[in-house]
Amino acid sequence: MHLTCPECKNEVSLLSYPTLKTEDVVECGMCGITLQVTDMDDDKISAEIVDEGK
Ligand SMILES: [Zn+2]
Repeated sequence: MHLTCPECKNEVSLLSYPTLKTEDVVECGMCGITLQVTDMDDDKISAEIVDEGK
């Protein structure tokens, strides 16, 4: 599965979230932003920004 950060366009590592599901919150390791999973396809994850990291 792949999640591209909507803020910095880097791929977010999901290794820390082996049981990821819709509405879970993940953090982008590149820009530190917090994302909430809104939709999961076969291998593509959509997420929206819930908190702009510093
Ligand atoms: Zn990012």
